[in-house]
Amino acid sequence: MSTDWNIQAAAHTCTACQKDFSDGAAIFSRLQFGAEGYARQDFCAVCWSDPARSGATGVWKGVYRAPAPPPEEPLKKETAESLLRHLMETEDERHGNAIFILAVMLERRRILAERDVQTRADGMKIRVYEHKKTNETFFIPDPQLKLAALEHVQAEVVALLGGTPPKNTGSAGVVE
Ligand SMILES: [Zn+2]
Repeated sequence: MSTDWNIQAAAHTCTACQKDFSDGAAIFSRLQFGAEGYARQDFCAVCWSDPARSGATGVWKGVYRAPAPPPEEPLKKETAESLLRHLMETEDERHGNAIFILAVMLERRRILAERDVQTRADGMKIRVYEHKKTNETFFIPDPQLKLAALEHVQAEVVALLGGTPPKNTGSAGVVE
């Protein structure tokens, strides 16, 4: 089984009519769960008003943003966002808790916006975040951390971001 989280770039065309979205257009998005995992579908307002679709649940409304050019400067230090991306790239399930905490941090900093929470057939809650600048969608399984675990993971994340490392946690660090 592969890991559950992933990042999907926003579609630039409507799933139904294939027309390009224009900058600032309203789009209607939903998750489709399938054998291959889950995929995001985006529809234009015209296609979404089709009665066959408009009754669907688990839909969030967003705004299409034409892609911004990539940042020019290389990242000087690890930020919560770069760390989140790195951990997601590792596809290592042990990072699941840290990934979730980082997503919550980025939501508080208004870098990510939560659009939806969907529940998979196996009961796992998938939080859907949108990156406010790039319009990417981050799918983050919610590990439903208990408070004690939450504090531990938060300390681990702060350490990864260059803060004071937590003392004698006994757990393996996620970076060497
Ligand atoms: Zn359309």
